[in-house]
Amino acid sequence: MSLLVVGSMAFDAIETPYGKTDKIVGGAATYICYSANQFTNDMKLIAVVGGDFPKEIIADYKTRGINTEGLQIKENEKSFFWSGKYHDNMNQRDTLVTELNVLGDFDPIVPESYTDVDYLMLGNLQPAVQESVIDRLPKRPKFIALDTMNFWMDIAMEELKSVMKKIDCLIINDEEARQLSGEYHLKLAAKKIMGMGPNTLIIKKGEHGALLFKEDKIFFTPALPLEVVFDPTGAGDTFAGGVCGYLAQTDDLSFENMKRAIVYGSAMASFCVEKFGTEMLVELKRSDLEDRVQEFVDIVNFDILVS
Ligand code: AMP
Repeated sequence: MSLLVVGSMAFDAIETPYGKTDKIVGGAATYICYSANQFTNDMKLIAVVGGDFPKEIIADYKTRGINTEGLQIKENEKSFFWSGKYHDNMNQRDTLVTELNVLGDFDPIVPESYTDVDYLMLGNLQPAVQESVIDRLPKRPKFIALDTMNFWMDIAMEELKSVMKKIDCLIINDEEARQLSGEYHLKLAAKKIMGMGPNTLIIKKGEHGALLFKEDKIFFTPALPLEVVFDPTGAGDTFAGGVCGYLAQTDDLSFENMKRAIVYGSAMASFCVEKFGTEMLVELKRSDLEDRVQEFVDIVNFDILVS
């Protein structure tokens, strides 16, 4: 099945207890694309970058089978820039700088070749822009997932509530779920959020795994305990890319298959954090992914007889 990815493409400057980077390639769509590409190469992209964005990354996308006709390059402008600093526990981070640049007036174009979109992953972007992509597609995809963050909740909550009415699945972290619902307990938060539109909700809990809510069913997967967490940037997007990539590959939206999708998403995210930026994802092989999924199976499997 074909997968359309929409989201930011950026330069990131990251500081973690392990080191610091100066302007490396990042952005939600970047991580989602590399991750989903492990599962499908029937992919399309809608994003915007400035003339400063490396052309070899765009060329690399093309060799991976990603259709970049919907990527706008604004030669005389600057790409989106984000900078963040992680706390010692690596679970929390502070955003230091958000420079929207080309994202500030992003008007997405849906090329004619993008008519047959089956799966749509709306990565982190201004919610009104995310909604405009749904509205501009000639046919509603069979599955629409959306990721967002506190930044947009703070400045565009009404826009977010509007696009949420048009999606199937929301992917956010636990703090964002609390902010969006006004509830601390995640089961209650999920109930409220699912009342706002999506029938499926995935709540990411960083090193504590992820929760899947679909209608009245719940599933939990842990995150794989790792010896080294170098840089968590993009882990959430990589997770989302893995989930949507797996769903597009298998074309099965049952609860049982969604459970498998969040395990694959978690496995992808576990690779992302092991190196800075996209370094690990770019070189990842499918066989490494399958080995890691097996580690997940082993770590959660137990025999128990409930009497
Ligand atoms: P994650 O760590 O999965 O939450 O995603 C980190 C990525 O999100 C970085 O590569 C940033 O470039 C991107 N990002 C940060 N803030 C925003 C924003 N307000 N809108 C869109 N993308 C963002």
